[in-house]
Amino acid sequence: MDQQTKQEFVRRFGNTDGAFILTRAPGRVNLIGEHTDYNDGFVFPIAIDRYTTILAKARTDTQVRIFSTTQNELTEFSIAGPVAKDSPQWSLYAKGVAEALRQRGLVKNGIDAMVSSTVPIGGGLSSSASFEVATGLAFLTANGKTLDKIELALAAQWAEHNYASMPCGIMDQFISALGEKDHAMLLDCRDLSQRQISMEDADMRIFIANSNVKHKLVEGEYQARRNQCERAVAILRKKFPAVKALRDADLSMLKTCRMDMDPTVFRRARHVISENTRTLQFAEAMASGNWSACGKLMYASHESLRDDYGVSCPELDFLVEIADTVQGVYGARMTGGGFGGSMVAMIQSHAIKELTAVIAQKYPQRFALEATMFSTTAGDGAQVVSS
Ligand code: ADP
Ligand code: MG
Repeated sequence: MDQQTKQEFVRRFGNTDGAFILTRAPGRVNLIGEHTDYNDGFVFPIAIDRYTTILAKARTDTQVRIFSTTQNELTEFSIAGPVAKDSPQWSLYAKGVAEALRQRGLVKNGIDAMVSSTVPIGGGLSSSASFEVATGLAFLTANGKTLDKIELALAAQWAEHNYASMPCGIMDQFISALGEKDHAMLLDCRDLSQRQISMEDADMRIFIANSNVKHKLVEGEYQARRNQCERAVAILRKKFPAVKALRDADLSMLKTCRMDMDPTVFRRARHVISENTRTLQFAEAMASGNWSACGKLMYASHESLRDDYGVSCPELDFLVEIADTVQGVYGARMTGGGFGGSMVAMIQSHAIKELTAVIAQKYPQRFALEATMFSTTAGDGAQVVSS
């Protein structure tokens, strides 16, 4: 953290006591395993080299002051008792984390803090989870406490559910807290067990292109997909009582129920079941460094999300189509919930320049929109940088 930011901190808070605490937590991108989390399935994210950073100092009382440079706004609250769920909206992520840690008896003293971020806000790369996790670490450090990273992730998710009113899965907080450099994380959303798989290769990068579109109806469509998955499970269960979630079914079981199912419900279930299989195959391919096999699975995932699950959009389809024309791209797919958001690709580093140029040229021609692009490798999860 540069001297200038520390000077600004002192100017803003007038707090010159004690040591500075610096924490950071990364955003993430999911390489494969989309719409599988709420079906008890597998996801496979990496932490990216973009972070929410918090510069803080402990206070001797129970007041909290947080200034967000991205929002250009100060929020103030007390942790003497249950933390109030007051506006502004962005402060709820921090308030929820403070409350989760207060309830665990880990946090008694407040902090003064400045938060900044290199994760695009609202860009589908999980600035919210990185904000929660970095905030949690700052509170813990200021109170001389540590917490198991899994517990920290669960506290952050609790904050997002109960304070920010976002009923998210656990992937974002898990990878932000537990990511490992040069590794992707195969996470089982049923029992939260995880396996870190090496993807170290000096010539391979993860490339992200944000379509910069967000189509309407996203929330309604999301709920509709969840309902269709539940419907499929209810039908499967009549023949296969052991099926508690789509994670427990395979394609042959699904086929024997085809006649009993609405064709749309059948296709939705086929995506989830095949995506779980692809995610496990992807993990194996990655473990053996077979990037071409990984890439093929990414294209297959995109087609399944587009045709069976119906959550892509013309902008994302076009980005994937363009990626497929560039030499050195192993594979590409939409990532995140869909109807906009980003494309993720696995790419040889020498090809980044060309892919960037081709997208910059062709995407605006088709959609009168620019895509935001960058490349990354798998980075470390949250850490206390200094205290
Ligand atoms: P994503 O997680 O994909 O970036 P979300 O809508 O889940 O998008 O979270 C974005 C919200 O998180 C922002 O609107 C803001 O309320 C909060 N947030 C994230 N980063 C910061 C930050 N550095 N300062 C203040 N609020 C932030
Ligand atoms: Mg988020």
